[in-house]
Amino acid sequence: MNQQPVLILGAGLTGLTTALELSKAGRAPVLLEKEDRPGGLARTFAHDGFKFDIGGHRFFTHDQGLEKYFLDLFGNRLAPVCRRSSIFKDGVLLRYPVSFLDAPRVFRLLGARAVFKVLRERFLAAGPGIAATTFEDWAQDRFGPEIYALFLGPYIAKFWGCAPAGISAAWASQRIAGVTPRAIFKSLFWQGGRPLKSFTRKFFYPENGIGELAERLQERLAGAAEIHCHAEVVGIRHAGRMIAEASTREKRYQAGAFVSTLPLTEFIDRLSPPAPAEVLAARRHLTFRDWIGVHLIMDRETFSRDQWIYFPDAAISFSRLQQGANWSRRLIQPGRGALLLEFLAGPGDRLSGLDDQALIALAVDDFCAKVRLLRPHNILGAKVTRIKNAYPVYKTGFAEHLRTVMGFLGGFKNLYLAGRGGRFKYLNMDHALEMGIKTAGNIQGQDYNLDLINAGEGFLG
Ligand SMILES: Cc1cc2nc3c(=O)[nH]c(=O)nc-3n(C[C@H](O)[C@H](O)[C@H](O)COP(=O)(O)OP(=O)(O)OC[C@H]3O[C@@H](n4cnc5c(N)ncnc54)[C@H](O)[C@@H]3O)c2cc1C
Repeated sequence: MNQQPVLILGAGLTGLTTALELSKAGRAPVLLEKEDRPGGLARTFAHDGFKFDIGGHRFFTHDQGLEKYFLDLFGNRLAPVCRRSSIFKDGVLLRYPVSFLDAPRVFRLLGARAVFKVLRERFLAAGPGIAATTFEDWAQDRFGPEIYALFLGPYIAKFWGCAPAGISAAWASQRIAGVTPRAIFKSLFWQGGRPLKSFTRKFFYPENGIGELAERLQERLAGAAEIHCHAEVVGIRHAGRMIAEASTREKRYQAGAFVSTLPLTEFIDRLSPPAPAEVLAARRHLTFRDWIGVHLIMDRETFSRDQWIYFPDAAISFSRLQQGANWSRRLIQPGRGALLLEFLAGPGDRLSGLDDQALIALAVDDFCAKVRLLRPHNILGAKVTRIKNAYPVYKTGFAEHLRTVMGFLGGFKNLYLAGRGGRFKYLNMDHALEMGIKTAGNIQGQDYNLDLINAGEGFLG
């Protein structure tokens, strides 16, 4: 068995889990992480005595083995949290998943005729629907033009920063595959049995924020791996069909095997010698959405029971909010609450161009004047966090470009691509853990196909 040193690029959940599994096999991997601490997208930030995740991170999986793996990290002391989430549309707050009690509000938004039309044509229809190539076709076919125009179309346009016709149906089928109209209809009346992931009503959440998960992984790793923070990988040298070394600004690192959880695009950009022209051309079609969080401290713990609320309206600049107190009271201070407004942005667009003060002003203005759940004097403090490469964008046609890039990188015999950015795949935390476990297995001589992870029914965040 190969016992050469392993270098892991990126210490998010995938990198940490890969390291933990390798350490169980007696290996001592080295991790390079550009941030001040591990955890990646699943970090928790402290601000003024309050704690904020990058978005709210709920842990949920249908895989019992992964659930056990996760709970074991917390000494089996985590209790499930009950979910409560809503959609804010045209001034109306609607439970999501929709509850039967919301019927009057649905009638108000859609109008009675449209409700009956949707029920007759879509919700009572069985069958999986047409095979669509764009999100727009997929969603219109499944839910009808009325629901599409009201919720899905505008939300997707805001989330991805482009028309839904430009987003691949692959995103829908990976993310919300099991959400058929009939399933939604059934869920209005019957909530027993195995729920769709989209409608998961319970999840796990550590008391002090999701960042605790990376902390637990690090505790298990103590002494068994070297983790270098503030170590941004700026160069990756290759020769023949092998990766030879990765370098930071200070140091070069050689290894026998390299695991990369860096965004795939960054990995390609850092290669020396550069990738062939056709690979660089394909790479230019692969883009990520950046995440911007405006964290607000408010003069009350909560204003509703929701953990999160979606905002499809184009006139409201953020796409989702989170109320910390409803995730865990340890995230807030008595009498004051943590409110997070989440924005998605792309390079060169309006939101990316705003400085922190302008973003805070926009967020507070939209929240107070358009959502009207608080007034400006209820906001006591604010901070902005920006995360690059948070969401791989599944543009129509992306799969072919991804195949070109992966085909080229697959030629390196000692390279293992893993994780959400590393495989350009919409993964959740359970998938990140699974990828770490299986990547370590592959380094140890197993033959897991990582493409099969999250290839089935997805869940809508
Ligand atoms: C807003 C948001 C909300 C989410 N909510 C949920 C949820 O509710 N439930 C759920 O299960 N999942 C959720 N997720 C997904 C979850 O965060 C990811 O699946 C998981 O954290 C991915 O881990 P990873 O290690 O694969 O990737 P990452 O966390 O991206 O790790 C990659 C690491 O590489 C580092 N890195 C990047 N470039 C370099 C470089 N050049 N040199 C060195 N290091 C580098 C990064 O800093 C990072 O630490 C959410 C994601 C987002 C963005």
